[in-house]
Amino acid sequence: MAVIDRVPERSRSCATSTEAVHAGENRARPDHALTCGVAQTATYTFNDTADLERYMRGDDGEPNRTEYGRYDNPTVRELEHRLAALERSEDAVAFSSGMAAVAMVLFTFLKSGDHVVLFRDCYRKTRQLVTSTLSRFAIEHSIVPPSDLEALQRELRDNTRLILSESPSNPYLYCVDLDRLARVARAHGRARVVVDSTFATPVNLRPIEHGADLVLHSATKYLAGHNDVLGGIVAGSGALVSLLRDMRGAFGSILDPHAAYLIGRGLKTLSLRVERQNQTAAALAEVLAGHPKVARVFYPSLADHPSRKVALEQMTGFGGVVSFEVRGNRAAASRVVDACRLAQIAPSLGGVESLVEQPAIMSYFELDDESLQSIDMSSSLVRLAVGIEETEDVISDVTRALEQA
Ligand SMILES: *Cc1c(COP(=O)(O)O)cnc(C)c1O
Repeated sequence: MAVIDRVPERSRSCATSTEAVHAGENRARPDHALTCGVAQTATYTFNDTADLERYMRGDDGEPNRTEYGRYDNPTVRELEHRLAALERSEDAVAFSSGMAAVAMVLFTFLKSGDHVVLFRDCYRKTRQLVTSTLSRFAIEHSIVPPSDLEALQRELRDNTRLILSESPSNPYLYCVDLDRLARVARAHGRARVVVDSTFATPVNLRPIEHGADLVLHSATKYLAGHNDVLGGIVAGSGALVSLLRDMRGAFGSILDPHAAYLIGRGLKTLSLRVERQNQTAAALAEVLAGHPKVARVFYPSLADHPSRKVALEQMTGFGGVVSFEVRGNRAAASRVVDACRLAQIAPSLGGVESLVEQPAIMSYFELDDESLQSIDMSSSLVRLAVGIEETEDVISDVTRALEQA
């Protein structure tokens, strides 16, 4: 397999918004094209046998060269370089979806007899993968309450190898004190910290700077930003990323080149989009907090949010997701969702379009109110993932829906 090149040094000193446009770009384009284009190829050619032999020995002097599309692709590579620069990591590796990224992290860094710790508020499919699939491979797990680092410390065992956290988490936006988490992991000595930072984006938080070993994104959400493509990406040290890259080659979970192009294009406007989404969500949260039909609002900047202090310390913005409990029951919340006109009913978040959903129905349809309560999920909760529409339009859509419902 090809020798993997490093992130270009020159991309390291700029502001996030500038890096989101330029970092990792290869200047030597065919025909002097400005953009990277889509390297739509399954394989790569060699001039002659001597050329192939030089490549196999690793002395062909072409660090970017690869042999086969399951291992690498230049369009994918450019996206990886750009995300590594944004996350201040040595390298990054892109996958066909966020869940493919999660699965590859689990399969790369765990083996039978190992133990992994998750927080209860992690992405539901991640939890199911650990509890249903990894348990078939004799990998143990513990699940601790949201952002509870004392509970986490108590669960650490000799065989704990991975701590998988998410900050902010879905749908209540709990934030984990990442500096403290890293200290706990270092004191234990053998557990790597992985942070699913999908909700934060590198615009609002850089987990590596807070001691995380790996940071993971569902690129489907904010990074791509247009609700039109799936992808996942993991950033970290060159050594850890190259282990993931080898696993990706074996599982065939590399990101498609066209998807990489779309995500790379989306990334160029990441800062603009996330700044607008931060601003709209914070304003919406304030309005909802004073609304008579709303029982409770969850957004990290609000005075009564349990993670407010941690969020203010480690984040520069709090993202585009606002969750709120409608006064009344499950049906009352459904009426509010149905009365939204601008926000469409759909799962997902982080795109330019505002989306609304009721987690009790979208994510936990098989659970009744009592079972929902046992996992601290309210049946009258509504999650609004704001897009980049005018702030006032998003707010009036929701407030009008509340009046009508
Ligand atoms: C969506 C999401 C995932 C899964 O990503 P896909 O791209 O849908 O596979 C993982 N973690 C979080 C926090 C997510 O929001």
